[in-house]
Amino acid sequence: MKKLCILLLCLFPCLNIAAQTEEYAANYASAPRFKALVHYDPHAEEAHVQFDKQAMEFFRKLTYGEGWIMETTTSLADYPYEKLKDYSLIISLNAALAEPAQRAAFQKYMENGGGWMGFHASGYNDRRTQWPWFNEFLGCGPFYCNNWPPQPALVECDTQEHVVTRTLPQSFVAPASEFYQWNPSPRKNPNVEVLLSISQKMYPFGIKDVVKFGDFPIVWTNKKYRMIYLNMGHGDEGFIDATQNLLFVNAFRWIVSRDPQGDPFKK
Ligand code: ZN
Repeated sequence: MKKLCILLLCLFPCLNIAAQTEEYAANYASAPRFKALVHYDPHAEEAHVQFDKQAMEFFRKLTYGEGWIMETTTSLADYPYEKLKDYSLIISLNAALAEPAQRAAFQKYMENGGGWMGFHASGYNDRRTQWPWFNEFLGCGPFYCNNWPPQPALVECDTQEHVVTRTLPQSFVAPASEFYQWNPSPRKNPNVEVLLSISQKMYPFGIKDVVKFGDFPIVWTNKKYRMIYLNMGHGDEGFIDATQNLLFVNAFRWIVSRDPQGDPFKK
């Protein structure tokens, strides 16, 4: 009984403070808070299409309760800037842009506060790509090399101060994927904040194609834009791990929360 009295004495002041500030622990949206456009390429290589289908299912589940509206498209041909600007973010699933008009609309969207969450081949570029702005946007040089075949990898958080990584363990094993290395590395760009990298302990990394050394960031943001790039995205194991799934949700939420029209989650 004595213990109970002490407990009650401790609890009541807290409850009073809560009542005074009229705070409530949850806020419930009465309408969809924002909309996002998922861009995927159904003609991509099979392992990329596998990931894309699972990714759409993953993001579709995040719309349950109509917290936001997810639209999908296989082409940005019908999305001039005037249409793109209505989306809080574009999620690029292994889909790259080749047409000049689509590239121009995307560039204008990003330069005017647009949001982007890009996976795997959506960031792929090489000498043939001929889109210098995209390298400036991605924050690194072109594709340099990769491990093969896809395999799990020990990955390490470069920071746990960031909203995207603060709920993740310092290191974890990411599900099997093909991982790209870039040259120059995005880490050399002062505008880039690297959030996650392949551990140096993985070297030599690969069975057929072996990456022997090198700086190996796989998740980063170019702070000049409202963007995050995640290199995962190859094969059908991309969503089997709760830690990696949490990373994806954190990244999605972080991009959306910085919408220049206001944080939709506070509405
Ligand atoms: Zn791939």
